[in-house]
Parts: sequence; C-alpha cells; structure tokens
Amino acid sequence: MIADLNDKIVSLSKRRGFVFPSSEIYGGAGSTWDFGPLGVELKNNVKRAWWRAMVQLREDVVGIDAAILMHPRVWEASGHVENFTDPLVECANCKKRYRLDELSEGAGGPCPNCGLKKLGEPRRFNLMFKTFVGPVEDSASIAWLRPETAQGIFVNFENVQQSMRRRLPFGIAQIGKSFRNEITPGNFIFRSREFEQMEMQYFCRPAEAPRLYDEWMATRREWFRRLAGHDELFRFREHGDDERAHYAARAFDIEFQFPFGWKELEGIHNRTDFDLRRHSEFSGKDLRYFDDATNERFIPYVVETAVGADRATFAFMCAAYDEEPDKEGIRTVLRLHRDLAPYKVAVLPLSKKPELSELARRVWADLRPEFMTTYDETQAIGRRYRRQDEIGTPLCVTVDFDSLTDQQVTIRDRDDMSQVRVGIPELLPALREKLRA
Ligand code: ATP
Repeated sequence: MIADLNDKIVSLSKRRGFVFPSSEIYGGAGSTWDFGPLGVELKNNVKRAWWRAMVQLREDVVGIDAAILMHPRVWEASGHVENFTDPLVECANCKKRYRLDELSEGAGGPCPNCGLKKLGEPRRFNLMFKTFVGPVEDSASIAWLRPETAQGIFVNFENVQQSMRRRLPFGIAQIGKSFRNEITPGNFIFRSREFEQMEMQYFCRPAEAPRLYDEWMATRREWFRRLAGHDELFRFREHGDDERAHYAARAFDIEFQFPFGWKELEGIHNRTDFDLRRHSEFSGKDLRYFDDATNERFIPYVVETAVGADRATFAFMCAAYDEEPDKEGIRTVLRLHRDLAPYKVAVLPLSKKPELSELARRVWADLRPEFMTTYDETQAIGRRYRRQDEIGTPLCVTVDFDSLTDQQVTIRDRDDMSQVRVGIPELLPALREKLRA
C-alpha cells in the first residue's frame, strides 16, 4: 500500500475540490463533510453505478425514495429505540469518550488519550438523533432522523408489491441520507454522523433465502471488482454469534482494506421475517404475502445488501490512487473507473493564443452535451496533464497549432499516456469508443 495514503487522499480531496470539512470557516461541525464540485460528481457516479446495477439492469428490483422522518412507532417496531445503542465510556479526567469495543483493555484499562485509569462504567447510548415535529416539544411530537433507509422500504412493502404487481422474489432499492450520532466518528468520510446509504431489500420465500443470500454475496462482490479492480482489497467476513444484529440469521461484511486497516464497507444480512413481522404487530396491518400458486399466506424473508455511498466513494478513491516516478518527480494518478471519474474529458489548448482558445472552446462546446467535461488553458501542457491525472480524468483532448490547419486534435489517455490524433469531426465517436472500452 502507498505510504500515508489516508493523508494523501484527505489532502487531495481538499486541494482539488472533492471533500471539504463541513462549516470549516467556523472550525468544522463535528465530523460532517461537504462534497465539493468534483466530489459530488464522483459520489453521484457511484450512486448511478449502483442504481444501474441494482435497478435498471434487473428484472426483479424496483426503486423508491422514502421520507427521512417517519412515524415514531416505526423505530419501536424495528428495535432501534431499544437496541440501537453503543456502549459509551467516558474518562473522568480528560472527558474523552470512547466506544467500549475500541478500548483494547476495556473500561478497566488506561484512557488512550491521557493514560490515566479513570474510565467510567460503560453506559448505553442511543445513536439516533431525536427531534420534534411541529411547534411543541413534547413526547407526543418526537421524531427520529432515520439511522438506516431500510425501514422506509419495509413500511412500503405492500404499497410497492401491489402497485407494481410483484410476485416473490423481488427487491426494493433505495438511496438516501441516514443519520447516526456516532460516539467516535472519524477516519475522514468513513464514519460520519450524516451519510448516504444504498440499500436493497430482497423479499423471498423463507426456504429460498439461503440460496439467494449466496447469490447476492457474489453479485455485490462482483460489483466492486468491476468498478474498483483490485479484488485483493476486498474480502468477506462473517459476523460471529456475539456481533450479529438482533434481526439477522446470517451476516457477512464485505470488507475493504482502508489505509487504517480492513473495515466494513457493505453488510449483507438475512433479516428473516423480523421486520415485516414486527411492523405487522406494531401497526396492526397484516403484511403477509398471498401466494396464489399454493394458496398460502406468509411473511416473506428478506436478504439485505447495505452499503454507504460515502464509504464506497472513499474506498474507490483509495483503490484508484496511484503514484509513479516520472521525469519531474512523482506522477499522481487517480485510476478511477471511467464510469466513476468526475470528468470524462478535459479540453486543453496548447497555448492561450486567441485563435487556439477559440477553436478549443468550439470543440469543448460540442462535447459538453455528451460528457461531463472541463477546460484548462493555464500553465504548461505537462502540468495540465498531471492535474487531470490527479483527479482521474480518463481522456484529454489537446488543441495545438497544427489543429488550426489540419482540423485534427490529440486524444491523450490517462492510463497508458498514449496519444492519438483524430479529425475534429471524428472526435465525438472516438471519445465514446474509448470511454466504452
Ligand atoms: P459500522 O460497524 O462500521 O458502524 P454498521 O455495521 O453499523 O457499520 P450497517 O448498519 O450495516 O453498518 O450499515 C450499512 C452500511 O452503511 C455500512 O456498511 C457502511 O458502509 C454505511 N455506514 C454505516 N454507518 C456509517 C457512518 N457512520 N458513516 C458512513 N457510512 C456508514
């Protein structure tokens, strides 16, 4: 792994407009992050790639977009009010707070910050943000910011199944914000208090769940392999009996080798009939599925795939980051998959001479409706190629003095730095072809 990869990505993110600390001019806002002009493109591309694979290309999955604020009983039924807690330990001396499982010697050991053995008893801390709906702050108006998007899918199971005339097995997918009042957020956008999730709940007959579970594990691993390459940076890890969530019959994580170690990137869970059964009990609405082939009514099982959009974006950046020696020192290249790269094409006139700018801007205008593009005419061409390499732009189009007479431009490839010359009328199909490859 590249030395100091984490610091390099954090610094690149800030310098080149991927990710900024939220409310930075006020000193930051407790581990929330803002995506800048390049970060929003990258994250949108990650979400688009997920939606395409999980909804558009499948016969059996449809999407929804549920509200963040839900009926408070939802979170009682889901078990979050009671169980969505982390054990919090506070140092009586320096007041620093930890999650019990982060302390190698437990609450009896020294505080990792000040070294004194003054850690208090662990207490359960609920990670949900609480707020109030309407003008009165009383217990009847409590609302929770959702800590996962999954519940919006469970409460809409029947709406979707009936309006879309779906038969088992089928899935419902969703991308949206979730909020967790994490005790120790950190590691850049790996763990923040506000983040986006991409979740899919696949409803099936109970007996089919183990087979479908295995299929979804393979499908999801393949998605990462296709977009990140580097299969060696991903691995499966099964949850032990003591760490499985209260609803899960089986749970695996897809872990990624982040610069700070192997960590969860995506969870794949067999949630059994837990959620629909609890929502039936708590709402009084019969959520059983009627199977007209067998005349049976039963509560479907759910296989869930749950990944963070921000965490996945970070993982793709880590996997793509590369450095190689060149004559001016080190060339930094973000070898992002072409579907994920913020800009697909950069247009670069060789110099700022008005006649070159004019032609280059005409070329640029023709490309903009087709691809996300950028234009750069300052500094030497070598410096500009490097700037594009560093942000992952797969192709540069260079307009030079010969272009004025022969109406040809040069396409330069980020990965092998090859250069080919094409006529301006053939540029668009040539770029399309290269971006498909
Ligand atoms: P962790 O053990 O890292 O806290 P989790 O097991 O609580 O994660 P899940 O509830 O399974 O996570 O959530 C599914 C996915 O949502 C995670 O795999 C991760 O990608 C993402 N995620 C969860 N919490 C956060 C967070 N605080 N910040 C960013 N992404 C998150």
